[in-house]
Amino acid sequence: MKTSLLRAVALAAGAACTWGMAQAQGFPDKPITMVIPFAAGGPTDVVARMLAIPMGKSLGQSVIVENTVGAGGTIAATKVARATPNGYTIFLHHMGMSTAPALYRKLNFDPLKDFEYIGQVVDVPMTLLARKDFPANNLPELLAYVKANKDKVSLANAGLGAVSHLCGLLFMSSIGVDLTTVPYKGTGPAMNDLLGGQVDLLCDQTTQTVPMIKDGRVKAFGATTLQRLSALPQLPTLDEQGLKGFEVKVWHGMYAPKSTPTEVLNKINAALRAALQDPLVTQRLSDLSSEIPAADKLTSLGLKTHLEAEIQKWGPVIRKAGIYAD
Ligand code: ASP
Repeated sequence: MKTSLLRAVALAAGAACTWGMAQAQGFPDKPITMVIPFAAGGPTDVVARMLAIPMGKSLGQSVIVENTVGAGGTIAATKVARATPNGYTIFLHHMGMSTAPALYRKLNFDPLKDFEYIGQVVDVPMTLLARKDFPANNLPELLAYVKANKDKVSLANAGLGAVSHLCGLLFMSSIGVDLTTVPYKGTGPAMNDLLGGQVDLLCDQTTQTVPMIKDGRVKAFGATTLQRLSALPQLPTLDEQGLKGFEVKVWHGMYAPKSTPTEVLNKINAALRAALQDPLVTQRLSDLSSEIPAADKLTSLGLKTHLEAEIQKWGPVIRKAGIYAD
């Protein structure tokens, strides 16, 4: 009785494995959904849509970008963690994946247990901006104005754990001033309000901001990198203007739900790497001062190792700052 039960279990497991392999071999035979955790029109959305078309071409199926917004990206991460692990749901997120465990007291996913890791994607600097008619024209004027009018100045972000939130916190702590922060569901809608003059300041990735700055639609006060941006060489860094050590560069990763078959992950990884070599993509990323990570980072291990290191790095910083969401 015991032996026959064991044999039945073994046969069932073998059948499931063969079925899984057959599924993986035929992958993909329908469109793939790439979930992103912020609203349309923002920098994460820009990166996702830039990759979706060439990835779809390599995979022979459309890659559809789905914006699942809210709670600094954690709603989307929870949704992907619970999705069927068959490769038809993938996830593009930025470094918020590493800050969420320290920021959120209740998190319904574990970045280190609930996902498979496809690879790192792109590194993107940020810029500190104001609405076009903001009274200050450069960083010294901004600092003087903000210090004298701190109750009047508003600073937008894309929610707790968004990089715009972290950059804003870094800015406020480096000048010793607390401003009124205004959360959005992505910096797409935050930028719309900055353009409309409803909010004063925003720190945001160059994948969204370079065209706005070049067109003079917003005022830029500095780049968050230690080197000036190739796309905007006339814009000084915040560091060189006296905010010493002010450095934020946003890394991105691509994930799939835990237990997605390795063969499927490999196919998605190959499509990701091919997309990052597509001349249209490389040119566009370079025009937006964004960098493609080294080849060893565009791998499952490269992403997982980086994510672990970033969780270790941000945990103590966030706990020390005492910032939490319930
Ligand atoms: N830039 C955003 C952030 O602050 C998110 C977005 O891509 O809309 O995290």
